Amino acid sequence: MSAERPDFDAGRNLLLLGERRIIFHCHHYNLFLQRSIEDGLGPEEATRLQVAAAMESARPLLTKLYAKEPELALVDKLLLAQRLFGSLGFGQADCTDLTAHGGQIRLLTSHYAIGWLAKWGTASRPVCHFPVGFWMGALCAAAELPPERLQGRELSCHAQGDARCLLEIEVL
Ligand SMILES: [Zn+2]
Repeated sequence: MSAERPDFDAGRNLLLLGERRIIFHCHHYNLFLQRSIEDGLGPEEATRLQVAAAMESARPLLTKLYAKEPELALVDKLLLAQRLFGSLGFGQADCTDLTAHGGQIRLLTSHYAIGWLAKWGTASRPVCHFPVGFWMGALCAAAELPPERLQGRELSCHAQGDARCLLEIEVL
């Protein structure tokens, strides 16, 4: 089994990844939850919360996966995260520009952007908060950086009519 693929425990009816239980939700659930958070907190605080939550979901998960393959170089760890991002259904990412000093991630497809367009049409602001946090967590774990040194944002989003989603991570 590849480290980045979920393992189904038929005896307990659980899907496991890095010894953590995972579940899948469709775009209706994920986008309705996202919009509810934004309605409650406002766009700025909702974005900050969702990015932070995604980062703190991805970082420990990937830290465990990387610990199983300590010989991997940074680029290979990031490619593992790229495969994981895809196999979990979040989209097709290109992280080849990302280094320990930060960089950009292109989303060739994004679950959140496609889902937002399907449910509510063109968005008024970027919607891929989970991917921003996921990639911050991935870089944190791969380069063994303290989380507080990372900042991330989405520069363009397919949900707003851009061809691709483009994420940027800075390491301070
Ligand atoms: Zn996007």
